[in-house]
Amino acid sequence: MPGIFATAVNCMDGRVQHSVNQWARERFGAEYIDTVTEAGPVASLAGRADSPGSGADIDEVFESIRRRVAVSVEAHGSKSIVVAAHEGCAGNPVNDETQKSQCRASATALATAFPNCEVIPVWVLLNGQIELLS
Ligand SMILES: [Zn+2]
Repeated sequence: MPGIFATAVNCMDGRVQHSVNQWARERFGAEYIDTVTEAGPVASLAGRADSPGSGADIDEVFESIRRRVAVSVEAHGSKSIVVAAHEGCAGNPVNDETQKSQCRASATALATAFPNCEVIPVWVLLNGQIELLS
């Protein structure tokens, strides 16, 4: 397969697309970043990690994300996933520390779902800076 793919699970917020994709290209040496977005995805992914079956809505979002990441992993051969949370998230309006802890839990949930992938949780500042959470 020509080209190396990696996967980004990111917020749909337009302010954080470029920085996360650029970071993932460099960190994973990838040419293409398959991007799976939701409004504040770590809230649902972490809910799943903390207490499986904690709600139908959470399970539905988790499954939707998992299905799309699976296309990236299975069809494009991605072996690398970045999961991002960011400053000022309107889709997940909890404090920064809670978001960061949800992001780490999301990475754990994704690593369980995709055991052959490296999964890295990151915190994104609105100035474009990326902080590693692992
Ligand atoms: Zn957001």
